[in-house]
Amino acid sequence: MKTAISAGGIVVRKYRGSWQILLLKDMNNAWTFPKGLIEEGEKKKEAAEREIGEEVGLSELTYMAPVANIQYMYKRNGLIAKTVYYFLFRYTGVSKPVCQKSEGIKDAQWYTLSDALSVIGYDTNISLIKKTGKFLSVI
Ligand code: ATP
Repeated sequence: MKTAISAGGIVVRKYRGSWQILLLKDMNNAWTFPKGLIEEGEKKKEAAEREIGEEVGLSELTYMAPVANIQYMYKRNGLIAKTVYYFLFRYTGVSKPVCQKSEGIKDAQWYTLSDALSVIGYDTNISLIKKTGKFLSVI
C-alpha cells in the first residue's frame, strides 16, 4: 500500500473577544483545514505554514503548538494510507482569506469553535477542533 505524509495548519484568531478557527471548503465541498504534501528538505511545521499561505493566502502567522496527527485511507490509483501532522498558528493580520481556486479550494471562512464542530467535513477533524479548544482555554 502507498503512504503519503502531509502537514496542515489549524489557524485561529481572536475576534471581538472570542476565538475563531479558519476552515476551507475542499474539492468534496467538505469544510476542513489547509494542508498539503511535505516537500523534500522541508520541516513539517514549515510545510504547514507554506500550505496555509498557498491555500488561503494568509501569512502573518505565529506558531503556537503542535496539535496532533490524523490518519485516513483513500483510493487514488490504489489505496493510499495518509498521515497528516497538524500545527496550531495564530493569525495576527487583518486580511481576508483568499482561497486558491486552482487547488480546488472553493471557500474559506472563520468560524467560532462550536460552529466549526457543527460544519466540519471529516470525522477525523473533530478531535483537532476539540484539542484546539482545550489548548486555547488554558492559554
Ligand atoms: P494534500 O492536500 O495532502 O496534498 P489531496 O488534496 O491530494 O491531499 P486529500 O485532501 O487527502 O487529498 O483527499 C483525498 C481523499 O481523502 C478525499 O477525497 C477525501 O475523501 C479524503 N479525506 C480528505 N481529508 C480527510 C480527512 N481529514 N479525514 C478523512 N478523509 C479525508
